[in-house]
Amino acid sequence: MDFELTDEQKMLKDVARKFAEKEMLPTLREFELKRKINFDLIKKMGETGFIGIHLPKEYGGSGLDYVSSVIVWEQLSWASWTQTLVSLGHGVLAGTILLHCASEEQKKKYLPPLCKGEKIIAVATVEPNAGSDARAIETKAELKGNYWIINGSKNFISAGNIADYIIVLAQTDKSLGPKGMVLIILDKDTPGFSAMRNDLIGDRAGDIANLYFDDCKIPKENVIGKVGRGLQNALKGIDTARLFISAGCIGMAQSCLDWSIKYAKEREQFGKPIGGFQLIQEKIAKMYAEISSIRWQVYYAAYLKDKGLPHAKELSAAKWLSSELAVRASEEAIRIHGAYGCSDEYPVAHHYLDSILSNILGGTSEMHKLTIGRELLGINAMY
Ligand SMILES: Cc1cc2nc3c(=O)[nH]c(=O)nc-3n(C[C@H](O)[C@H](O)[C@H](O)COP(=O)(O)OP(=O)(O)OC[C@H]3O[C@@H](n4cnc5c(N)ncnc54)[C@H](O)[C@@H]3O)c2cc1C
Repeated sequence: MDFELTDEQKMLKDVARKFAEKEMLPTLREFELKRKINFDLIKKMGETGFIGIHLPKEYGGSGLDYVSSVIVWEQLSWASWTQTLVSLGHGVLAGTILLHCASEEQKKKYLPPLCKGEKIIAVATVEPNAGSDARAIETKAELKGNYWIINGSKNFISAGNIADYIIVLAQTDKSLGPKGMVLIILDKDTPGFSAMRNDLIGDRAGDIANLYFDDCKIPKENVIGKVGRGLQNALKGIDTARLFISAGCIGMAQSCLDWSIKYAKEREQFGKPIGGFQLIQEKIAKMYAEISSIRWQVYYAAYLKDKGLPHAKELSAAKWLSSELAVRASEEAIRIHGAYGCSDEYPVAHHYLDSILSNILGGTSEMHKLTIGRELLGINAMY
């Protein structure tokens, strides 16, 4: 067992941290307050090789293993989980699906511009009546001649409003259940498609949208993977997204700890730094102990994924624990900063708002507990 990062991983960690400090943190507040996306940042991330970091070099990616990739996500999310998600999330979700399921022609068309940050591809599975239960989707895809006709709507889609393309999960035949599902990619300019920004409590410098499909006519060849395999293929992307989200949560928690230590040494009350009080030290110690432990769970899930080994319960444990840790750590960081922590003056309040969202996307904590239960007991509590 080797707990040491390789020289390359140390170098990557350093590059990503410097990027977070230099390119993200100084302008974050401005973009958060305006609720705007920093498109320059997405471009720079593309130039640096962060988008599609885990995708093969032949398609424009950086070809890194999962452990190295999560180290990068952790460092970038140290500045902003939202900006990391809106800049890199599509490379993870859409990129993974395309890599594993698309035809060679589709990979060559979509992956290089995605990795460069020139094109954004959202993935839309969740609907008003189908959240955790993806089998319940109602968006319909009907094959008429050489075209699919798509009707329905999708909710809470990352980068849905700014995407150039959308990969949609649709049902071709309700009687087949999940075996009737298909993934189809469509252009944002397709007549009948519309997107509406959905402002959430966090994600202030990001983009979440509800999408509407009204008789969208899509060429037959825009199917990604096989008809009937849509849900399994979407889950390939979601599995990778869970890992990167978990890494981002560790980054948020670490940031909360780092800023809390700094503040606790500077802020004086009762004639001494608040860090000198045992009750503040307990908060700092607890944050440190939890972050160090759960970080290893995330790295372990990445390691298993790198080896191609089963990792469902390990990744579910990582996602559940890291996202809830990010909420706890950011809450404690706000308490340590007092009223200043509730403002945007210090870089902790935005982690609190974002971390609550991290509990929900990529599967809620409850779903991950049920996955662990299923793996250990061999009993599926959901279906
Ligand atoms: C920031 C953000 C980004 C997102 N990005 C995308 C995206 O890019 N693409 C996309 O398709 N979707 C996206 N989503 C949607 C996300 O995947 C869903 O919100 C998530 O799957 C949960 O679905 P829901 O919100 O409908 O909650 P529901 O499934 O309705 O769940 C509500 C509550 O009930 C609990 N629950 C449900 N079933 C059970 C059960 N069997 N046992 C116990 N508890 C249960 C849940 O855990 C939760 O607490 C995003 C969401 C957020 C917040």
